[in-house]
Amino acid sequence: MLGLDLTIRDNDIVDVMGSLYVKNPVALERLLTELRKEGYVIENLRNAEYRKSDNVSVEEMEKNGWSLWFAKLPDIRYGLCGSCQQLISVSGIRTHAHKCEKCGAVTYYELIEGSTLTFVFNNDGETGFFTPQLRMKVKMWDIENGNLCLYPEFLEGGLSVVTGKRAEDYLKRNKGKWSYGLIGGEKMIIIKYDFQWDRRTAMIEPYDSNGHVWNHKIVKVWDGKQYDDFDHLPVPESISIYESWHWTPLPVTSDLHTRILRAAGQTDDQGWHYQDGSPWFKPGHWKEMAKFVRHFTQLNADAFDLAWPTFRSDGPGGIADLAHFCHPGAVVRNDPNIGNVIFGLGKAFEGRRLTEQEIKAAKHGLEDPLVKRIFLSRKD
Ligand SMILES: [Zn+2]
Repeated sequence: MLGLDLTIRDNDIVDVMGSLYVKNPVALERLLTELRKEGYVIENLRNAEYRKSDNVSVEEMEKNGWSLWFAKLPDIRYGLCGSCQQLISVSGIRTHAHKCEKCGAVTYYELIEGSTLTFVFNNDGETGFFTPQLRMKVKMWDIENGNLCLYPEFLEGGLSVVTGKRAEDYLKRNKGKWSYGLIGGEKMIIIKYDFQWDRRTAMIEPYDSNGHVWNHKIVKVWDGKQYDDFDHLPVPESISIYESWHWTPLPVTSDLHTRILRAAGQTDDQGWHYQDGSPWFKPGHWKEMAKFVRHFTQLNADAFDLAWPTFRSDGPGGIADLAHFCHPGAVVRNDPNIGNVIFGLGKAFEGRRLTEQEIKAAKHGLEDPLVKRIFLSRKD
């Protein structure tokens, strides 16, 4: 289950959307022991700070089916030095001129000759969206003395990046924050730029840069094997664990669909979704919900297995079909949503046709309290 070798007896542990639902205390004990053996660190959420600060009682957590345990792998990220190919600490690995603790090679250069840097002068009188930015090529960065040497040409790039006369003017307005210097007989612009950047003393504020030199990569190491940083491990890096015996079986009520959607990580609000019929729910969603239905509700699970392939796949339709299956008197949430107003307007401006449902949702969206706050000013 979830790629882990777990002991399961009579479905006493069920996985839904990567979480584990445990049906009795004996199974829980066994599960936690096995997870610890696999290397997971387990947090008892009954003691979690957020529970205390939100003033939620343990009874409430149990009754409302909150996750009560959180298992996660310890930090398994390492640097892999590009020079010695050994595993090193990730701490500081991406700071300029950081040295590998095993072989002393530099793991990363932020700015070297030929890198480009986009920046503004650190000048409170001139900040904001329309502040001109300069993009310039780096000659060298002397971190010992905190001097950045730039070629005196202005490069193009981006909306706010200025060149030509506007760049010259901007430079002039900020004289005192830079100087000319000769390096190898060439005239350069020199700016104080300390390794430890500090807003209070810095001359410039960097926006972005490129042309870095990487001499490392980040890897994950699990069970003696290396994985790329973004690779999925064969096991989950974290797992939420639920104690289902406090709240199952869930009776058939008009809001049961809400609970089922939540277990699948889905909203129960039709208004949240696109209103143009675009598909949202995939068979995988319904299959996870089907497991939840079978093990934790009083619904007819066999009937659900037959029914879900007929459900609509768009967000609002899928929610409605699920809700209707669960209870004939189901009340479906459809909150006014500003997104539907904006999306509808956008589509209308582009001259595209809105579906009836989109128009309805856009009108309904005008009731979103956010709309009132943004568009309607108080007259009193
Ligand atoms: Zn090394």
